[in-house]
Amino acid sequence: MDLSALFQITHGVYITGARDGNNRLIGSCIDSVMVVEADPAQVIISLGKKSYTGKTVLKTRRLSLSVLPADASDELIERFGTQTSETVDKWQDTPYTLQNDLPVVQNAVASYVLKVNHSFDTATHHVFVCDVETINRGSMAKPLIYADYQDRKSDKNTGKWVCTVCGYVYDNDTPFEYLPDDWLCPLCGEPKSVFIQK
Ligand code: FE
Repeated sequence: MDLSALFQITHGVYITGARDGNNRLIGSCIDSVMVVEADPAQVIISLGKKSYTGKTVLKTRRLSLSVLPADASDELIERFGTQTSETVDKWQDTPYTLQNDLPVVQNAVASYVLKVNHSFDTATHHVFVCDVETINRGSMAKPLIYADYQDRKSDKNTGKWVCTVCGYVYDNDTPFEYLPDDWLCPLCGEPKSVFIQK
């Protein structure tokens, strides 16, 4: 099965924000967001069961969502997409504002605070059906489209991820970003966070 065909169903690129049990700001980069209905406003998002943000939102039932603009930097996306908030403060070097006490990216096209209405699990993800608590229209920039982001990346590099510990090169059909957070280097057993893109 060619999983890359699944990623032809494209959408935007988003940053989630939340607070964990110690009131630390956490978050992740996702592309799985769907507007279910506008009145009352409800959106569905999914977060990996193993991801720190996913585990946290399952308990706190609240998160923010920032829609990234077309010119969002790769560095920002990688900061939120390839590390875990359990050990890294991703918001520290990210310009943000607080929206109803949750962090949102400063130049976001739009941002929302979401309250989980109910959730269910799939094999690997928590799926959250959320009520929209607040909306901020943000900048008038165009949103980043996930497929354009992938194109932009492949123009710039080979798209290959390399383990900085053992040199293993990840080059599979499934985009590296879609590997679960607990995926380990098949050669040396180190986590995703030690990989860099070449
Ligand atoms: Fe390795």
